Amino acid sequence: METSKLFLINQDDSKAEYKRIMEQTVNALTASITDDRAYAGPTPDELKKHVYVDDILPENGLGWDAVLSRLNNQILPNFLRTSSTDYMAHLHSPATIESIASELILSTFNQSMDSWDQSPVATEVELEVVKKLCAMYGYGDGADGVFTSGGSQSNQTAIILARDWFCNEKLNFDIKKHGLPENFRKLRMYTSEISHFSMEKSAHVLGLGYECVVKVPVDSRKKMDLAALKQLIEKDKAEGNIPFLLVATVGTTDFGSIDPLKELSELCKANGMWLHADAAYGSGVILSQKYSNRIAGLNLCDSITVDFHKMFLLPISSSAVLVKNGKTFDALTIHADYLNREEDEEDGYTNLVDKSLQTTRRFDALKVWVAFQTRGKDGWSEIISTSMENAQYLYQKLKNDKDFCVVTEPEISSVVFRLSSAKCGGDEQADEVNKKVRRSLIHNHGVVIGQTVSDGRVHLKFTLLNPLITRQKLDSLIELIRKLGTEAK
Ligand SMILES: *Cc1c(COP(=O)(O)O)cnc(C)c1O
Repeated sequence: METSKLFLINQDDSKAEYKRIMEQTVNALTASITDDRAYAGPTPDELKKHVYVDDILPENGLGWDAVLSRLNNQILPNFLRTSSTDYMAHLHSPATIESIASELILSTFNQSMDSWDQSPVATEVELEVVKKLCAMYGYGDGADGVFTSGGSQSNQTAIILARDWFCNEKLNFDIKKHGLPENFRKLRMYTSEISHFSMEKSAHVLGLGYECVVKVPVDSRKKMDLAALKQLIEKDKAEGNIPFLLVATVGTTDFGSIDPLKELSELCKANGMWLHADAAYGSGVILSQKYSNRIAGLNLCDSITVDFHKMFLLPISSSAVLVKNGKTFDALTIHADYLNREEDEEDGYTNLVDKSLQTTRRFDALKVWVAFQTRGKDGWSEIISTSMENAQYLYQKLKNDKDFCVVTEPEISSVVFRLSSAKCGGDEQADEVNKKVRRSLIHNHGVVIGQTVSDGRVHLKFTLLNPLITRQKLDSLIELIRKLGTEAK
């Protein structure tokens, strides 16, 4: 084994090898982009053949250079490129260049966020970033937060804290010690019918089951219907059920619609419930100087999910859960002699594992630290506002086009619509046409857009996170979709 080539260490030949491999990688990446498409087009079968190697773990290592050549031939040309303006399928963003550099830094030193002695500088940076985030979202003293693997885990963490807080405070029952209370089947959480599936998944994992999750209808703008919610809570209470949590969605995954936070907060107060805001998508709106009032009321919520790998354009993963009363994180604290001794805290060493579902954890906070400072408030405001204005442009355009129908006016940056002209035929036939158009865009045009269902019908979706998308681009894509729709009939 050539020891100097294994890690980056304090030796000249190790440093030279590190630079050589990084430079080759950067060169390969930049060279692999030879056109503007989001995807080169292969089908699943074609890709299976393309990525095939006779043995992923060969008897003798091939060495970096041979593997780089396979990467160059088999993998890089087929990557989906989220930075292409032809990519607008999901809430999965392109990564800014400085945030990719941050990834290199954090994996080079490979710290883990569980205990201070594994990540001294990373722990202190995460604490500072969390403090800034709490202030930015309007939380006061006593608030706290932690980085997570993504919005799903942030939501799950919040649901655990809400459950344990409620059972402690209102039922005088310690779940951490005893497990679920005997009447656990009566616990109820409320969320809109179009909220993220991590609610049901979490309810199941937490032993509460899907039946704990009450789905509240949405209005014509895809926001939670307050009157319906009030009725559901009253009905549940009359039946002896126990409402403990309301999850508001601040930016639904498909429509970007925002539930009415102020009213929901009053309702939660009146009923002694925890209010969680799933702002995995909408959290980025805070940075838009023009439109941040659209998420006003976020500070009224007991906890907030913030995803940085969506509107904030950072590499996966980067997410945080913020909590108004940081003490509720006690639910997740458990001491181990080998990791997070109680005495550490007294001596001024913070072990972030005390707040986290994960043990080994990435230093994702670094990307926020770098990105915020690099672009500042003005840079971020322009990025977020541009995406939101693009969505507004597309909505107005489609609303006035007889070949399309568009579901609702966007509050953030996604637009859900459908080819629905007489040329598409009846509803079922139009569903098929819309599906075919999306497949054709991927495989024949390198364009990747979203597809979903609204009111029982297949729709197409543009999720406009990339601020480099122009109005001309949107115009030409809509013309392409129109043309493919006619051909697909
Ligand atoms: C994306 C999303 C999530 C899940 O976040 P991940 O980071 O993908 O785990 C949760 N809620 C909403 C509203 C989302 O859009």
